[in-house]
Amino acid sequence: MRGGSAPRCPVCRSRTSAEFSPFCSQRCADVDLGRWLNERYAIPVEDDEDDAPPEARPPLSDED
Ligand SMILES: [Zn+2]
Repeated sequence: MRGGSAPRCPVCRSRTSAEFSPFCSQRCADVDLGRWLNERYAIPVEDDEDDAPPEARPPLSDED
Protein backbone atom coordinates (compact mmCIF):
# COMPACT_ATOMS: atom_id res chain seq x y z
CA MET A 1 0.00 0.00 0.00
CA ARG A 2 1.47 3.28 -1.04
CA GLY A 3 0.82 6.32 1.06
CA GLY A 4 1.41 8.67 -1.78
CA SER A 5 -2.00 10.24 -1.84
CA ALA A 6 -1.51 13.92 -2.33
CA PRO A 7 -3.50 16.21 -0.07
CA ARG A 8 -6.67 17.38 -1.68
CA CYS A 9 -8.56 20.59 -1.33
CA PRO A 10 -11.46 19.81 1.03
CA VAL A 11 -13.65 22.15 -0.97
CA CYS A 12 -13.21 21.10 -4.58
CA ARG A 13 -10.94 18.05 -4.28
CA SER A 14 -8.32 19.60 -6.46
CA ARG A 15 -4.69 19.30 -5.59
CA THR A 16 -3.75 21.71 -2.89
CA SER A 17 -1.36 24.54 -3.27
CA ALA A 18 1.35 25.09 -0.70
CA GLU A 19 0.49 28.75 -0.72
CA PHE A 20 -3.13 28.16 0.19
CA SER A 21 -2.73 24.88 2.08
CA PRO A 22 -4.84 23.01 2.86
CA PHE A 23 -6.80 24.52 0.02
CA CYS A 24 -6.02 24.86 -3.64
CA SER A 25 -6.74 28.54 -3.91
CA GLN A 26 -7.78 31.60 -1.98
CA ARG A 27 -11.26 31.12 -3.35
CA CYS A 28 -11.64 27.70 -1.78
CA ALA A 29 -10.17 28.97 1.47
CA ASP A 30 -12.86 31.63 1.50
CA VAL A 31 -15.55 29.07 0.72
CA ASP A 32 -14.46 26.88 3.60
CA LEU A 33 -14.28 29.82 5.95
CA GLY A 34 -17.80 30.78 4.96
CA ARG A 35 -19.03 27.28 5.65
CA TRP A 36 -17.30 27.25 8.98
CA LEU A 37 -18.87 30.52 9.98
CA ASN A 38 -22.27 29.32 8.86
CA GLU A 39 -21.88 26.24 10.98
CA ARG A 40 -20.98 28.32 13.98
CA TYR A 41 -23.97 30.55 13.53
CA ALA A 42 -26.18 27.53 12.96
CA ILE A 43 -25.38 26.06 16.33
CA PRO A 44 -28.37 26.77 18.57
CA VAL A 45 -27.53 28.47 21.78
CA GLU A 46 -28.87 26.41 24.61
CA ASP A 47 -29.56 28.43 27.67
CA ASP A 48 -29.12 26.44 30.80
CA GLU A 49 -30.89 29.04 32.82
CA ASP A 50 -33.87 27.93 34.81
CA ASP A 51 -36.44 29.92 32.98
CA ALA A 52 -39.83 29.48 34.49
CA PRO A 53 -42.27 27.98 32.02
CA PRO A 54 -45.03 30.33 30.85
CA GLU A 55 -47.55 28.40 32.91
CA ALA A 56 -45.71 29.27 36.11
CA ARG A 57 -46.09 33.00 35.60
CA PRO A 58 -48.25 34.73 38.19
CA PRO A 59 -51.76 35.33 36.86
CA LEU A 60 -52.44 38.82 35.62
CA SER A 61 -54.80 40.53 37.97
CA ASP A 62 -57.71 42.13 36.24
CA GLU A 63 -58.21 45.79 36.85
CA ASP A 64 -61.18 46.64 38.94
ZN1 LIG B 1 -10.26 23.97 -4.05
